[in-house]
Amino acid sequence: MNNQHLQTPIEYLKGVGLSRAEVLKKELQIYVFEDLLRLIPYKYIDRTRFYKVKDIQPDMPYVQVLARVISKEIMGEKHTKRLIVQAKDDTGVIELAWFQGIKWVEKMVVPGKVYVLFGKPGFFNGKTQMPHPELELYVPGAQQKGNLTLQPAYNSTEKLKQFSLDSKGIQKLVTILLEQNGRHIEENLPVYIINRFKLMGRAEAYRGIHFPADATQLKEAQYRLKFEELFFLQLKLLKNKLLHTQKFKGNIFDKVGDYFNEFFHHKLPFPLTNAQKRVLKEIRLDTQRGVQMNRLLQGDVGSGKTVVALMCMLLALDNGFQACIMAPTEILATQHYETIKSLVGEGFIDIALLTGSVPQKLRKGIHERLEDGRLHILVGTHALIEDKVQYKNLGLVVIDEQHRFGVEQRAKLWKKAAVPPHMLVMTATPIPRTLAMTMYGDLDISVIDELPANRKPIKTHHYYEAQRLRMFGFMREEIAKGRQIYVVYPLIQESEKLDLKNLQDGIEIMLREFPLPGYHISVVHGKLKAADKEAEMQRFVKGQTQIMVATTVIEVGVNVPNASVMIIENAERFGLSQLHQLRGRVGRGAEQSYCILMSKEKLSNDGRIRLNTMVRTNNGFEIAETDMQLRGPGDIAGTQQSGVLDLKVADLTTDQEVLQQARNVVIEIFEKDPQLAAPENQILNRAFQQKNDGLTWDKIS
Ligand code: ADP
Ligand code: MG
Repeated sequence: MNNQHLQTPIEYLKGVGLSRAEVLKKELQIYVFEDLLRLIPYKYIDRTRFYKVKDIQPDMPYVQVLARVISKEIMGEKHTKRLIVQAKDDTGVIELAWFQGIKWVEKMVVPGKVYVLFGKPGFFNGKTQMPHPELELYVPGAQQKGNLTLQPAYNSTEKLKQFSLDSKGIQKLVTILLEQNGRHIEENLPVYIINRFKLMGRAEAYRGIHFPADATQLKEAQYRLKFEELFFLQLKLLKNKLLHTQKFKGNIFDKVGDYFNEFFHHKLPFPLTNAQKRVLKEIRLDTQRGVQMNRLLQGDVGSGKTVVALMCMLLALDNGFQACIMAPTEILATQHYETIKSLVGEGFIDIALLTGSVPQKLRKGIHERLEDGRLHILVGTHALIEDKVQYKNLGLVVIDEQHRFGVEQRAKLWKKAAVPPHMLVMTATPIPRTLAMTMYGDLDISVIDELPANRKPIKTHHYYEAQRLRMFGFMREEIAKGRQIYVVYPLIQESEKLDLKNLQDGIEIMLREFPLPGYHISVVHGKLKAADKEAEMQRFVKGQTQIMVATTVIEVGVNVPNASVMIIENAERFGLSQLHQLRGRVGRGAEQSYCILMSKEKLSNDGRIRLNTMVRTNNGFEIAETDMQLRGPGDIAGTQQSGVLDLKVADLTTDQEVLQQARNVVIEIFEKDPQLAAPENQILNRAFQQKNDGLTWDKIS
């Protein structure tokens, strides 16, 4: 296959050579021809139209003007020396300025002649001025070659510029690349897909994305390349999943027995929400098929994931298996343990807690009960995947708070049984759909998108510093009603000292505002010893204190249904998903809950959007969407290992529809032709092998 040609080292491209190749590799990771081809312009400069002088504003991007030069003059001395040229069209006069290369330009510019000017307008000495425009003599009647298009702009760096590889320089290389190697760009999608989605051919698309003739062509080129990119990413993910299910047999949970029924009919203290029922059904179906389940359970804080997980574990028990649930911190693990114990009641099943701080003696007993099968459910932290821990018959693993566990740790758990256990991964950090489809494209996804009916939506307010007294007044009212309150301060690594001071000042004010007796305050921060922290938290959990002042340690922690107010200090310093997580600590009981975001008066644009979003909505998915719009997918936890960041053309924040199309068609293809054996799909096999040469599928999972 000819495509090998595009794998030629970049130094062999005409105009590159060894030293430029070196910087291209270092600065832009361009090693071979194809890398340059895939260097997508970050914007296009509109040279398809001429602007009138009177319409030019200093804040415009690059514009093109047709104007007659009326004067030129070198002004100033030494450092202030500059060439000022006046040019006019039928609407007004514009000033052009050069600070470098003055002599050369002065010689070239001829007053009286008409030029095509191209540059970025600016503001100088109270008037609009265009510094260092490109300028080219206008030839009436002749199409100004190469100019009446959208010009690509490429990201460059100082280093690259030293080698004359600014945007223009790179553009030249791309031109050469396309001229000399364009015919080597081969189609990699089957004809039936091209036809169905009316896609531009691949070679044409690369030409179109670098040098679009007009906006329509650019759009089509972008669509084609985005589609292709997302298509192959999905092909990889779904093929991975397919191989996975072919490779591993799964335990069959086909019985609904006494454990499940007894719990469901006699112990469950509330009716399940429809979303919970739906998810249970999805899991039921998935665990009967004889293949290993790998499922992500997404649900907002408080949506009731734990009880769903518990009921799945009871299903495992009904089918003769053990189950375990793993949490990222000791506090969370302990809380799960307590929750589950209180839900199932005494003497129903054998359940144990295993964390780093469980004493050796107890541990031994747990290990024994696990090995001989007496222990039904093990709750714990990372301690669960230690090599020493052996299960008799592990059938289901529940992992809470997925993004803190790596893929490797998941794999470690699989090896705890001859047949890999079913995996249910729970996350309370909602992820935008597009991200979920790529980050977890090889998992099945269930969503609990409904809160229990007895919940009142949390009311969120944004107060400025000036409204602090009002906030204290509100705190008093709520405490008088018997409620408890969190006050959270940010803790940022770089300014830990400052943050601690901030927290201590806050506590002092609080003590003044709420003098004893009657009020008690718990204080929890990162500098406390674990035991003290635990004791302080316990006081709050037991209702001995009304206010808990804390840094973000409570983020993934406690569940106190009586706590109904969350006050977040310096809220502008928190990220959106963190704010949402914190707010989720309240609203767990039946009373009306509140979240108050305190901020300084002056906010950045992003800061304002974050706080407004929080006030506007309680919906975690909507918040996650906005978060991604603000930060891009790269900053969202967990994307690093997902291939999301390799995307060059597609953008998950805007290309949801293309992604869905690509994923659907890949699913369709695998349903009809799982081996990709059909003649019309051979092209996919080839492209696939090329994209992933050497990489076998089992290595990825
Ligand atoms: P999360 O999804 O954040 O883990 P939890 O499972 O901790 O949520 O549930 C939050 C609270 O809601 C718990 O106190 C739980 O008992 C309660 N809960 C769960 N499901 C329901 C339901 N269907 N109706 C009423 N309360 C529920
Ligand atoms: Mg939970």
